[in-house]
Amino acid sequence: MRVVLLGPPGAGKGTQAQIIAGRLGVPAISTGDIFRANVSGQTELGKKAKAFMDAGELVPDEITVAMVKDRLAEPDAKAGFLLDGFPRTIAQAEQLRSSLAELGHGLDCVLELVVDEEELVRRLSGRRMLVDGEMVQRDDDKPETVRRRLQVYRQQTAPLSGFYETEGLLARIDAIGEIDEVTARAMEACGAGDAGRASGD
Ligand code: ADP
Repeated sequence: MRVVLLGPPGAGKGTQAQIIAGRLGVPAISTGDIFRANVSGQTELGKKAKAFMDAGELVPDEITVAMVKDRLAEPDAKAGFLLDGFPRTIAQAEQLRSSLAELGHGLDCVLELVVDEEELVRRLSGRRMLVDGEMVQRDDDKPETVRRRLQVYRQQTAPLSGFYETEGLLARIDAIGEIDEVTARAMEACGAGDAGRASGD
């Protein structure tokens, strides 16, 4: 299955991406994680991306699209994938559609996690992640950067909802509730309600 996970910062995309991809037996590909790994590894890509990320801005499409194309060409993504954090602009969505079409593929489902903005701000300001055994705040989870990320989401990413609705691929799900409730809604919405349940996870 080829799935895209859409949703604003703080909607729980990363958490759901791991679980849903595991159930579907496809790799979860997070552009945010790939960028962060490159920033900590101080690669050329990381150096290019860092300033945009710290400001809460999107990394330019040409950098992001090339990176995703390379990742999707890896063997584990041949039979399917779950994209988390990509596409984030209409231009990225169009590029994704044409790269998949070249291979004779298309997306099967686009899942949008819906959470109201008040809840997003609350979640993001309290969010910490484990780095080298310590709980730290992500550089871009500072309040002023969070505000900018939400604004960028509204302006550049939210229009993807309409784009995928027109394509007949969009499933919007309420992402407030227990993690496994949200997962169940997502699996149901993508018509994969029974996948992975037999394995007990
Ligand atoms: P969140 O969804 O919580 O905002 P991500 O981990 O998905 O966070 O992304 C963190 C940052 O990485 C973004 O604010 C942006 O700077 C960069 N980024 C991730 N994915 C993309 C993308 N598809 N296009 C452009 N920039 C991206």
